[in-house]
Amino acid sequence: MHKILAAFDPRATDAVSLGELAAAQGLPTEAAGAAARFLASPDGERLVAAIRAGRARRELPVALLLGGTLVTGAVDAVLDAPDALEVWDYKTDACGAAELAGRYGTQLAAYALALARAEGRGGGGEGRGGRPVRARLFALGRDESVAVPTDADAIAAFEAKASEALAHLARGEFPPKPGERCTRCTLRNSPLCAAKTPTGDV
Ligand code: SF4
Repeated sequence: MHKILAAFDPRATDAVSLGELAAAQGLPTEAAGAAARFLASPDGERLVAAIRAGRARRELPVALLLGGTLVTGAVDAVLDAPDALEVWDYKTDACGAAELAGRYGTQLAAYALALARAEGRGGGGEGRGGRPVRARLFALGRDESVAVPTDADAIAAFEAKASEALAHLARGEFPPKPGERCTRCTLRNSPLCAAKTPTGDV
């Protein structure tokens, strides 16, 4: 469905239907139906209006230097609203929007920081002209969405944590971090567990 939302063009005079777009990309007709429902929602209508006004960038490539490592990605959509830059990311996971925030909050924080830097403010969750960068995850097919915190504190916390983690990786350091995941780890009772005292068994 991402491909449909990236490719459809409401400005085209010879508009291609969502069904044709789905077929051209080898997607089932259900994907076209889900895309149509999203585009008919208030958020979808905002996206269409922004595209028509030339205020939406889709599949926008972004790059971010963190801890000496260049991280790259592509934002599903960035809406250039008068009062904010809005990062939109679509997900098709089999879960609701609230769970998406836990799964993908870091990804959207990275996008928000990359945009803030690219827009000339260097970070802190603000883009050009001091506009805040907002981020929202959409659970496609469930008609749900959730905002991801991108205020200055959230972005600064992400930047510090990610920079430290990536700097460790760049130096080949992989310090063990015992926790809840230990309960599912196959190394739990193995001498290979560097922590030696894994947790998560309560
Ligand atoms: S059991 Fe050891 S290796 Fe596995 S996640 Fe926990 S600390 Fe890491």
